[in-house]
Amino acid sequence: MANPFFNLNYEPVLESLGNQYFDRVQPANFSQHILRFRNDKLLPILGLDSDTVSDRHFLDFGGRFRGKQSCLALRYHGYQFGQYNPYLGDGRGVLYGQVRGTDGKLYDFGTKGSGQTPYSQSRDGRLTLRSGVREVLAAETLHCLGIKTSRCLSLIETEALTRNDELFRGAVMVRLSNSHLRFGTFERLEYYDRIDLIQQLLDHVIQYYYPHLWQQSDCYVRFYRELVERVAKLVAQWMAVGFCHGVLNTDNMSIVGESFDYGAYAFIDTYNPTFTPATFDRQGRYSYRNQPSVCRWNLAMLQHPLSAVIPETEMETALNTFFESYTQYYHQQMLRKLGFTRLSVWETEELIDLTLQFLFLTKVNYGKFFSELRQNFSLQWRDKPDYILQNLKFLVSGEEVDILKRWCWLYHRLLVERSPNEIKKMSQILQITNPTVVLSESKVKAICQAINKHDSWQLFIEFIQQIRA
Ligand code: AMP
Ligand code: MG
Repeated sequence: MANPFFNLNYEPVLESLGNQYFDRVQPANFSQHILRFRNDKLLPILGLDSDTVSDRHFLDFGGRFRGKQSCLALRYHGYQFGQYNPYLGDGRGVLYGQVRGTDGKLYDFGTKGSGQTPYSQSRDGRLTLRSGVREVLAAETLHCLGIKTSRCLSLIETEALTRNDELFRGAVMVRLSNSHLRFGTFERLEYYDRIDLIQQLLDHVIQYYYPHLWQQSDCYVRFYRELVERVAKLVAQWMAVGFCHGVLNTDNMSIVGESFDYGAYAFIDTYNPTFTPATFDRQGRYSYRNQPSVCRWNLAMLQHPLSAVIPETEMETALNTFFESYTQYYHQQMLRKLGFTRLSVWETEELIDLTLQFLFLTKVNYGKFFSELRQNFSLQWRDKPDYILQNLKFLVSGEEVDILKRWCWLYHRLLVERSPNEIKKMSQILQITNPTVVLSESKVKAICQAINKHDSWQLFIEFIQQIRA
């Protein structure tokens, strides 16, 4: 049967812009291909039916690169840890076709680990199986939490690779994302003083990714305003679910405000604002608490290339709304995690502050706290305050007892003001918002270890099933 991936509705729109944005490359020819993950959940978006797509189809498309799609190593620069780096670009991946999804949106296939490109420097162009698994876990978890993210379509184990004399299992991934254009794609154009291309690329971005703005006379400033809003929302969602991206360089910031590129990420175990997942991030630039301000800084840097087209004062005005939007989204998300849709500003701040103080002091696991709240929440709490978070009471001591008491007292005060019907609704919100399974670092480690030591994929498969349930 013909490979359904080869006959998709391809629209090579970036390629048709001219050859200023990429280099054509040949993907690696691997000696081994073992399909480790196929994301059947993505097939409907591509207009495909699971039954008609075999493992062989996945392998030929995502590992042997047998389609006729062009492989384009994208050109981009970026600020890495605050320093401008003009030696970037797709060093181990390519844009491997663009398709129109059944939802009408344009999607990119992007590879990771498909071999060297002109941007590999001295590196191998490869992906370790462990990093591939970690990226699948992050993307699927964030997606299930309702966060706009790239997702992995396939993960195929390839031949092993050697780094620093150590042997690692290797892999190649194909991811599906809305766009692989980054802030750094524009930064590179400014570096070469190509105002003409900045204009062209900006028109392209608006036409394909912000089409509702295209007909508006002030579409350029509206675009920047909307990007600020999208990034503010994204980072608020990360913060609420306890996600720390780890490497928020401008080459890892998508121009469509989507979350992508998961390397050194981690979900916080306990509420520790200075938590920094990347071991090489000694200053903690990309710590959990710094994420909103570094995203704002990245948006500010993007103003330099965009100022070729958009008045700077208007961009500055738009950027000045960042923290207000961020706070609004963050409050909204946190309230839902606590079961509420709406509280007064004063109550919202009081409840969130106290919750975070409580989590910081007691070091109760961040994800578990919210999943316990979901599981233990009861209509009885309104009339029997002693029942509130009963399970946790045995686990705390010393000054933690006091803060837990204060939390229960405040929560109860808010419940008393609500009708039994409203309390029922709260229970539903908690069910929808807080997952019972969280991607703790220990979970990631256990999954990776089982794969590495025993080639056991059971934990990995179970985890994906559990978050999707
Ligand atoms: P990242 O931190 O994954 O966003 O990567 C930063 C840059 O390094 C990108 O340009 C990557 O393509 C490149 N890169 C990362 N790892 C490798 C590798 N093993 N081989 C070639 N390029 C790489
Ligand atoms: Mg990257």
